[in-house]
Amino acid sequence: MSSSSNPTSAAYAQAVKELGLKQNIAKALEIPDRELTVEVPFRKDDGEIKSVIGFRVQHNNTRGPFKGGIRYHQHVDIEEVRSLATLMTWKTSLLDIPYGGGKGGIGIDPSKYSKTELERMSRRFFRAIDPIIGINVDIPAPDVNTNAQVMSWFMDEYSQLHGYSPAIVTGKPLELGGSAGREAATGRGTAVITRETADKWNIPLNNSKVVIQGFGNVGSYAAKFLHEYGCKIIAVSDVSGGLYDPNGLDIPSLFDYNYEHRTINGFDQGKKISNDELLALECDFLIPAALGSAINETNVDSLNCKVIIEAANGPVTGPAANKLWDRKIGIIPDILTNAGGVTVSYFEWVQNLQQFKWTEKDVNKKLEEKMIHAFNEVFELKKNKQVPMRIASFMVAIDRVHKAYNLREG
Ligand code: GLU
Repeated sequence: MSSSSNPTSAAYAQAVKELGLKQNIAKALEIPDRELTVEVPFRKDDGEIKSVIGFRVQHNNTRGPFKGGIRYHQHVDIEEVRSLATLMTWKTSLLDIPYGGGKGGIGIDPSKYSKTELERMSRRFFRAIDPIIGINVDIPAPDVNTNAQVMSWFMDEYSQLHGYSPAIVTGKPLELGGSAGREAATGRGTAVITRETADKWNIPLNNSKVVIQGFGNVGSYAAKFLHEYGCKIIAVSDVSGGLYDPNGLDIPSLFDYNYEHRTINGFDQGKKISNDELLALECDFLIPAALGSAINETNVDSLNCKVIIEAANGPVTGPAANKLWDRKIGIIPDILTNAGGVTVSYFEWVQNLQQFKWTEKDVNKKLEEKMIHAFNEVFELKKNKQVPMRIASFMVAIDRVHKAYNLREG
């Protein structure tokens, strides 16, 4: 990921300027605290040894332990992990949860490996990063292509070395100390933020037209909850392509189909469309919920939505965001929209530390309160300063870290 396509750097620079932060402080807050690159050898099912590279970047822990997911994807490299770790610092700060930011990853395409190969690779990776993690130091979680099973292997490796430690990782299965509501949390938070946006933008939520790019954990749950709110989900897509129905897709059936088959391919409703066609559909809310830089200078002019709800991390590049601002298309940024995941991760960690389980109702209620509070804080600042939501979000987040940093650095 080059710095010009890194959405964080442009927004960061503008927010720093708006806040009037001194350049030396801006620089200090931008530099990651620590970066670890590890070799991860593991045995394939055919007996051969394969070696891959893994990363863990710890960006900032001024407000609490480093926190952030681990992704498995062929595009993962140190620059991408660094940028995503930085986003986590601003995300945890924006939601005012007591964490800093970190991220990890391995640059492989997991679909090319068996479950047993992925298990051996994951366990070896976790051992390799063990020296820099801890329940009050750095707490990993799932991200793209990792899930509760991978977190179980992580928790098991750590517990073998240090004793039973569910709080070392979040996004675990319920049976191992996971939290009720965690799996759906990012999608639920995305739906809540879409609802709040509809209200402030004066777009009636009922029957509003929604397009979702990406139907993994985040996109599928966002679709489910938005459908429950009365929205019309007219198109969704995954790596296999898109499905479109101007009258609204049957989301409960599609959700179940996708849960079972792990793809929307083969679902018997909707017209097949390409990713480019999907992005260009006329709609109220366009929700990119797949990978970074999905909306960029090559396709931004074709967009035909009122507001973009950034459910993925970094789905709109900096130059594309500027063009959208000129066209008065709103962007609700990733660090706000998708913060539901890390917020319930925080609730999971708290439950693990207290050894006390909360009900799903409690979790969802607290999640909603946190999301709405952060949304309103950003919206007020946006209005007062006449800046985009993305810049206002960064301003709230950076200011909070900066104040803590000043107090600690004396
Ligand atoms: N990977 C998610 C994110 O990007 C969740 C991180 C976490 O729960 O620590 O926010």
